[in-house]
This record gives sequence, C-alpha cells and structure tokens, in this order.
Amino acid sequence: MRPLEGLVVARDRSLAKYRLQPGVIPRVLGQARPFAGLLVVFAATVVLGSAATVLPMVIFQRIIDDGVIAGQRDVIVSWSLIVAGLAVVAAGLSLVERWCSSRIGEGLVQRLRNQLFDHLSQLPLAFFVKSNTGRLVSRVVADVAGAQQAFTTTFSQALSNLVTVSLVLVSMAMLSWPLALAAMVLLPIFMVPAKLVSARVSGLTRERMEHQAQLTQTMTERFTVSGALLVKLFGQPARENARFNAQTAQLAADGVRISMVARFFMAALALVGALATALFYGLGGLAVVDGAMSLGTLTAMVALLARLYGPLMALTNLRVDVMTAMVSFERVFEVLDIAPSIVDAPQAIDVPVPASIAFEDVWFTYPAAEQVSVSSLCSDDHSAEEPELPVIRGISFCAEPGQTVALVGPSGAGKTTLTQLLTRLYDVDSGSVTIGGVDVRQLRLASLRSTIGYVTQDAHLFHDTIRANLDYALPGASEEQLWAALAGAQIADVVRRLPAGLDTVVGERGYRMSGGERQRLAIARLLLISPPVIVLDEATAHLDAASEQLVQRALDVARQGRTAIVVAHRLSTVRQADLILVIEAGKVSERGTHDELLAAGGSYARLYQHQFDLGGSL
Ligand code: ADP
Repeated sequence: MRPLEGLVVARDRSLAKYRLQPGVIPRVLGQARPFAGLLVVFAATVVLGSAATVLPMVIFQRIIDDGVIAGQRDVIVSWSLIVAGLAVVAAGLSLVERWCSSRIGEGLVQRLRNQLFDHLSQLPLAFFVKSNTGRLVSRVVADVAGAQQAFTTTFSQALSNLVTVSLVLVSMAMLSWPLALAAMVLLPIFMVPAKLVSARVSGLTRERMEHQAQLTQTMTERFTVSGALLVKLFGQPARENARFNAQTAQLAADGVRISMVARFFMAALALVGALATALFYGLGGLAVVDGAMSLGTLTAMVALLARLYGPLMALTNLRVDVMTAMVSFERVFEVLDIAPSIVDAPQAIDVPVPASIAFEDVWFTYPAAEQVSVSSLCSDDHSAEEPELPVIRGISFCAEPGQTVALVGPSGAGKTTLTQLLTRLYDVDSGSVTIGGVDVRQLRLASLRSTIGYVTQDAHLFHDTIRANLDYALPGASEEQLWAALAGAQIADVVRRLPAGLDTVVGERGYRMSGGERQRLAIARLLLISPPVIVLDEATAHLDAASEQLVQRALDVARQGRTAIVVAHRLSTVRQADLILVIEAGKVSERGTHDELLAAGGSYARLYQHQFDLGGSL
C-alpha cells in the first residue's frame, strides 16, 4: 500500500494542467546524463525486484493445487523454498535499488547546488539587492531537494508501480480473466472519491506550506542581529511570542486536518480492498465449488489483488507527481537562467596604469526588480514599485593618478552610487566611466576589482578570525605582511591586545569590533592588496575624536601614492582632497578645492560652517 507521506507531499492538482517551459525535460535529462550507467542498473533492479515480489503469489497456486490438494509433500517443500529464495532476492534487490537511487539523487543535488552557487556568485549586486535572501536560500535548499525527490522517490516509485501493476494484471488475467475483470470493475467506484480526497489534501498541504513559510520568515527576520535588536529595543517580546504561538497553532491545526483527510483516503482504499477481496472469495468460492476454478487459483488471485490497488492508485497521480518534480527542476533552472548582466566583455583588457579616473556625463537609474531577478525571488515590497528615477544625472569629473577626490553632500544624493559605478557593481545607463582612458566595461572584471580597493561604510567582516579576514584579501600573506598592514591601518595595537591576537574570531557572532575598528581592519585588508586606486565610503556613524584620528591616519597611509575617491564625512579628509565635488540630487552642484569652495560661499561653505559649529560630520 502507498505510504501516507506520499499523499501529504505537496502536490498541486493544478499541476495536472500545468505546462512546463519548453526544454525543461531535455535539460533534466542533461542533468541526469552523468548518472546514465547507474540509471540502467537502477531500472533493471526495479524490474527484477517487482518480479520477485509478484512471482511468489503465482507460486501459491502451485503449492495449493499441486502440493496441498494433491498431497505432494516434496512439491510443497520445493516451491516454498523457491518462495523463500525469491524473498531474499527481493530484499537484496531493494537494497541495490535504494543505493542506486540515492547515489543518483544525492549526486544530482550536489551538481545542482554547485551550479547554483557558482551561478549566483556571478550575478550582479543588483540581483542581491532586489532578491529576498530567504527565498533564494530556499531555491538552493528546498527546490534542489525537490529535484532530488524526483529521482529518489517519484521516478523510482513510478517505475516500480508500473512494473508491478503490469505483472499483477498479466498474472491475474492468466489465472482467471473473469476475476481480473471484476477487480478492474471495482476500481472506478473507488477512484472518484479518492481523487476528490487527494485534491483536498493538496489544497490543505499548499495552505500548510504557506503557513510554514510565514513561520520561517518570522524566525529568519527576528533571529538576525538587527531583528533581535529591534525586538528588544521596542520591548515587544510578549507580542512576538503571541504572534509566533498563533502561527504554530495554525500549523498544528493544519497538520491535524491533513492527517484526517489523508486517513479518510486510506480508509477508502482499505474498504475497496476489502470489498474486492469479499467479491473474489464470493465469486471465486462459488467457481471452486462448481469445479470451474482450482482452490490454488483463488488463493493466488486474492494474494495478487492485495498487490494491485496501492500501486494502481499511485499511478493515477503519476502526471501530477512527475510535474511536481519537474517544477522543482524548472524553478532551479529559472535561477540558473538569470543572465549575469555584468560580465567581461569579449575582448576585455587589464586596467592600464597609471590609473586616472574619469566620469563623463554619467546617467544612472537603479534597475527595477524584474530586470535583475525573477519575480518569485523578489521581496514583496518591490511588487508595486514606482518606476525608478535617475539617481545620477549627468556627472562628470576626473581624478588624476595620485589625486584624492572627496564626494560630499546630503544623504541620498548619489555619492555611494557613484563609487559603485566605478567598481562596476552597476553599469551606467549613458555616459562613461573610464580608468586610464579605457571604459570600465572594456576592462577585465578581475583586473578592475584588484585595481580598486573598496572600503564600504559598514566594512563587513566574515565571521572568522582576523587572520582569515585578512587572508581573504591576500591568500597566503606572511605574518610580517599582516602585521605591516595592521600597523599601517592603525589597528595593530588593538589586535595585539585581543585575547587570541590574529586568531580572534570577529564578525557577526564573534568579537564585536567598533565601526572605526572595522573600517581600519578593512583598510588593512586594502593595504595588503595594495591597489593603485582606493574607494572609501567613510562611516557616517559619529566616531569619537581618537577613533576618527586613527581612521584618518589609516586613510592617509592608504592614500599615499594612490588615486582615491572618498565619500567624505570628516572635515580632515575633505580639507586634504585635491578636488571636492558637492553632490546634490544626482548632480555636481559645486566643485573645487576646500579654499575655493569656501571662498565661493555656496552650499559647501554653508555645510562646512554648519559642521564647524556643531563639531560634527559633513
Ligand atoms: P548617498 O551615498 O549620497 O547617501 P546613495 O548613492 O546611497 O546616496 O543613494 C542615492 C539614491 O539612490 C537614494 O535615493 C537611494 O534611495 C537610492 N538607492 C540606493 N541604492 C539603491 C538600490 N539598490 N536600488 C534602488 N535605489 C537605490
């Protein structure tokens, strides 16, 4: 009989009419190609295994007619031994079958996960900005697992059920075709309600999965550092608990309803089985009395009957099962098909030195969600998005080798966006960004990224040791190199004082470094690579004077002999810049040196005066 879980797996009835995207099936076959040999062995074991379980039922006829009734002891013994032998063979084959199907299933999952990870790593930043991380992870984990289930469960069960049903029907027809016919007549009476129940189970299962997804979302949102912080700061744990309790209660109720409906199905299946058995004993019994059928045949027929309905029922859902599996594949392929829009041009070259930087009439609009991701992966809040407006509107400027350009201006003006266009995290809509006279789109990405050292505002550290975080920039750096970089970044003393020195674990769950320390560590990372161009997005968080001085000194070291673009919040940085650009609403509103801009008495002068009065940041 079909296992209960088979019913409870998310099967969507609408899938029966679902049309797969063209080309999915050949692609699935393509994915399975490396396992072709195993697949053949697997199919052979399924066929032989089914035969080994059906054959004993036919042998029962011989045991009873030729052995029991004829009083032939040796016939009974030899057939019984054969049945026992077949049972051993069937058990052995089922092990081989399982081994093959898990090797294929697991191998497939591994391949798909690797392909997805590799592909996702190449997608542009825009994709990650617009995609919901939870859903993305679910693609890599759940859908891939769905694809695995296709092999380990769906296909193997379908094949074995198909073989079993055919063998049972052929055996029945050979033993007594009138009874075989009677068994088939009963089937529709059972099939119709079973289909209805099964549809209800799929509906309920879908609801439950939706509820489960909500629960997971609640947890993933609350259990991040920032989520947990918010809950604590707003002092709402009771409300959070109540909400979570309501969600778990809903899930529990869903579970009970599903198991009741599923039990209804099982009961119906058992009922039909019992009715058919009664019919067999009734009709068959009379036939035996009339001498039209042997007792052995009747026994064999009843035994065969027990093997018929379960697999037959499973086969009626075959299309839905196969579709469910295929949809998992389709969803995985959907992610694999998102084209990485920022890739090396065919004839991309290395960044020329010296690296002067020029922005020429650059316009840029952030891409809308649907341009960079697939809708099912996007965060909900992007669904009703307004059309995006240009964030950068015709900006031009140059930074000669060795110069520092400071970008200042109100928050949201587009300063960070400019730095992201330089590093090609995004591509311009029109105009150009050039390094050494070559458009960044014509440069090799690897060369571009190693030319530009980028310290972001939040200076992300991996949850790992300081050594590993630095090693990430320059694998295999020597101890001296590491300490030199730390010293240059004015953070060597801090690291030396840490309990495990370079081997202290930092990051999300490790030693929490302050904003200034993180930026200095990021600068150390940059000093290790020693790139000719640096981009620094200064932390806006107000640093205390000592910290600010240290960051400033680290920055001075980093800027030496390099072209630097700094999103500046500190007066000290700005004053030393060779060129200051005041960015307002995506345009350069003023440009010049500190003295020139002060003399001009425009918005820079006002900003400066304001900050000077407050002693704060620009
Ligand atoms: P600044 O660095 O000057 O504070 P940003 O360059 O970060 O400004 O942002 C400029 C504008 O672009 C802001 O209005 C911001 O909301 C918008 N923006 C920033 N990042 C994105 C994004 N990934 N998608 C859409 N809009 C964005």
